Amino acid sequence: MAPLHRLALQLNSARAWIALGVLAPIGMLAVSGLMLLDLRRDAWDKAEQTSRNLLQVLERDIARNIEMYDLSIRAAVDNLRTPGLADMAPALRQLILFDRAATARDMGVMIVIDEHGEIIADIDAIPPRKGNYVDREYFQIHQARAGLGLHIGQPIISRLTGERMLPFSRRINKPDGTFGGVVLGSVKLSYFTRLFSEIDLGHGGAINLYLRDGTRIMRHPYAEADIGVNIASTQTFQGFVRDASGSFVHISARDGIERHYTYTRVGGLPLILNVALSTNAIEAEWRAKAIVIGGIVLVLCSLTIVLSLLFGRELRRREAMQSELERLSLTDALTGLPNRRAFEEAFTRASGGGRRSGKPLSLLIVDADHFKRFNDRYGHQIGDEVLQGLARRLSASVHRPHDLVCRVGGEEFAILLPDTDQAGALRIAEKVHAEVSTLAIGSAGIGAGAVTVSIGLASGVPDGGATTALTDLYRLADGALYEAKAGGRNQTRCAKEPDAPAGSQKRPLQVVRGS
Ligand code: GH3
Ligand code: MG
Ligand code: MG
Repeated sequence: MAPLHRLALQLNSARAWIALGVLAPIGMLAVSGLMLLDLRRDAWDKAEQTSRNLLQVLERDIARNIEMYDLSIRAAVDNLRTPGLADMAPALRQLILFDRAATARDMGVMIVIDEHGEIIADIDAIPPRKGNYVDREYFQIHQARAGLGLHIGQPIISRLTGERMLPFSRRINKPDGTFGGVVLGSVKLSYFTRLFSEIDLGHGGAINLYLRDGTRIMRHPYAEADIGVNIASTQTFQGFVRDASGSFVHISARDGIERHYTYTRVGGLPLILNVALSTNAIEAEWRAKAIVIGGIVLVLCSLTIVLSLLFGRELRRREAMQSELERLSLTDALTGLPNRRAFEEAFTRASGGGRRSGKPLSLLIVDADHFKRFNDRYGHQIGDEVLQGLARRLSASVHRPHDLVCRVGGEEFAILLPDTDQAGALRIAEKVHAEVSTLAIGSAGIGAGAVTVSIGLASGVPDGGATTALTDLYRLADGALYEAKAGGRNQTRCAKEPDAPAGSQKRPLQVVRGS
């Protein structure tokens, strides 16, 4: 069978339509799902890329500024060793001390503190402003440890200006190596506020700058309470110190918002900078798209599935109707037996089988005796009941699955017996007479034995065309039936076998049962 023809046949079946109507939308759903997942990955890639770029720009700005302040502090430490500095006029001393000092707008204070914590030089005032710094953390740490290099202290409020500052300091060593004080520079925290403030990170986004010990120096969006808080013990912070830079998703201990954190160390300094985007915000645009696309695809797929199911159901109903019509067209309405058409089809099949197997096929034509009299006497309705009773009795006379009892005319039945020779068919005829003799119609007062039938029997091995074989066998059986009627009814007569030799033509028809 050509593939196209086979496909056309399959598409004719309800099951194929239902399968197609359900599988195609499921396929469509799967493809849409994959597409949406891809879009989601794109949203995440974009967020990651944006965070990295932003982090790099901020980190470079902060590192460059701190390096500049450190250079100023370092220069002051070096300049303190200038010979005769102590004896110089204050203005000249100031010039020499802070000759390389940066004067950026975010520079806080720049002072030289002696070993007792007193200010001995101040970039902004001659004579220097008064103040003692023995209690400051950076003073004590330099006092205790030489060779610390640049120290970045905890964010503080300046005693000189009252502003929030991040202190940077270096130790001054006396010629003998003992503690000689501290040079302190500081950057205003407003520098970070301004740096971060122009960046829009979407809802729930944040930028944080921490000291390596976990102290928060600055947060954007700014909240006073966040500055100086130590978060070293939180899991989020532990994520920041795992590597020099990286990214991860975590739920913030501060506000419970899930964020994607991208973090890095700032230059070679003990500072950690991170850009945090809320995962909700990252997916917000994607989610809106996904809801619309997903919704439309889902509705279309559901519609397709529903329509396919409805169409399949309709197709099934038609198939059922068609097979019922087919069944009805092959069934006799009164008796429920197969009708003449069914008989002809069955005969064609049986004679084909007989031709192949070479086995004989027998046909009994069973005709009710004097049936007209029944109708005349008891009425047509009782006549119908007798016919139904006869149908039951005839059906009870055969047992093989391929034996077929049909109603081929008014009160005429045919019994087709494949793979049965004349002797076997005669036994069935006997059985038919016996079964019919038990038929009684109580309501009409027809007792058992009142209904009799005459049977014409013909047997033969099918050959040649099926139609010819049917016509021949039927004609022979009919002839035998005629003989049975003529012989007094309630008996069976056998026709000579169609393939019997010509000499046996005259063989008398066999009487099986006398009336
Ligand atoms: P014979 O013994 O020679 O066969 O006599 P008969 O009366 O049976 O034969 P005949 O062919 O003269 O009459 C057949 C009758 O069968 C005619 C009709 O009244 C009756 N008949 C045919 N079909 C039906 C049917 O469907 N229902 C009923 N009730 N009677 C039917
Ligand atoms: Mg009759
Ligand atoms: Mg008849």
